[in-house]
Amino acid sequence: MALIVQKFGGTSVKDRSRIYNVARIVADTRNAGNDVVVVVSAQGDTTDDLIEKAAEITSNPSAREMDMLLATGEQISIALLTMALNEIGCPAISLTGWQAGFKTDRAYTKARIHRMDTERLESELGRGRVVVCAGFQGINRMDDITTLGRGGSDTSAVAIAAALHADRCQIFTDVEGVYTADPRKIPNAKKLKEITFDEMLELASLGAQVLNNRSVELGKKYGVEMEVLSSLNPMPGTIVREVCKDMEGMLIKGVARDDDVAVISILEVPDRPGMSFKVFGSLAQKKINVDIILQSTGRNGNKDLTFTVPAKDAELAVACLKENSGRIGSSDIHVNRDVAKVSIVGAGMQSHAGVASTMFEALYEANINIMMISTSEIKISVILDKKDAEQAVRAIHSAFVH
Ligand code: ASP
Ligand code: MG
Repeated sequence: MALIVQKFGGTSVKDRSRIYNVARIVADTRNAGNDVVVVVSAQGDTTDDLIEKAAEITSNPSAREMDMLLATGEQISIALLTMALNEIGCPAISLTGWQAGFKTDRAYTKARIHRMDTERLESELGRGRVVVCAGFQGINRMDDITTLGRGGSDTSAVAIAAALHADRCQIFTDVEGVYTADPRKIPNAKKLKEITFDEMLELASLGAQVLNNRSVELGKKYGVEMEVLSSLNPMPGTIVREVCKDMEGMLIKGVARDDDVAVISILEVPDRPGMSFKVFGSLAQKKINVDIILQSTGRNGNKDLTFTVPAKDAELAVACLKENSGRIGSSDIHVNRDVAKVSIVGAGMQSHAGVASTMFEALYEANINIMMISTSEIKISVILDKKDAEQAVRAIHSAFVH
């Protein structure tokens, strides 16, 4: 007998028929002889609707009251799913986040889980019941309801799996797993059998939003293997784990495109100690995240600095550099928003030569120019013209995934 945590997202419980669909998956898992803890999100767009309701009242709601409001969404789901389970003969009980023992810090609307008190969960399991827990919510030291931030139910599921040493943590969603590229755009994108936590984190930060990032970080920290699979088409999905045994001969796990990027250049900056500090220090003060940085070799005592920032921060970054141009020693600032970042991610590139050159060759054959390059142990990113991005993803994908 195994202990299995199953999490179902908002689309998986959005109406009566989906709730019964979930109830049958859960009941089948229990009838196969397992203990089951279920974590659910709010139905469909409920959380967005609640946020809108608050906006009708005030443009500046207190964070504590937002959590009081948003937590109601998940409470609807747990009650309805538990009724459905009971209806089909599966003994079950619902627990809110605080009943299930999620103890969080006091940061309303973005709380972090401090501790899980699992007595209630364990005693209900001991009585042979399926336990249906509200995701996304907990309680702080003041006995106030807190929520974990948007998409937080994934994190709730992993936290329960870690605390109960569950054998498996399944994240059911509306896609069949993690793909090598967006399957809506790249028809021959392949579903992965496995992916490492680190690869998943890189892909998520590049915009592949299958799993909430914090849940993957938590999974990595506590060694909780996660499986991403579809609630509508029940077949094996993608396993997220520390190390993948079978690399499936795949050097890379995914190609991702990120359009939320702008390139900023500041030219002819006097080349002396402290130059980078003055530029990036002033941006850091404005909390602007800089990603790729290129510094030219000096000429005539000057250097050019080129770097990327999130597109939404470009204006602020330029204003900030202009403000500090006296200190920096240059006001020759340029910004290019017609760019995109295309990246490949794969732990396989650590032990295989030639991955970068395959990527660059694919771009060369498609006659696409690269503006900037950056690499990490398991990722290579290039900045290119936005109009080339789609073709670039396709060319790179077909160079690696057959
Ligand atoms: N219902 C919350 C949200 O929509 C939490 C979740 O779905 O995981 O963000
Ligand atoms: Mg949701």
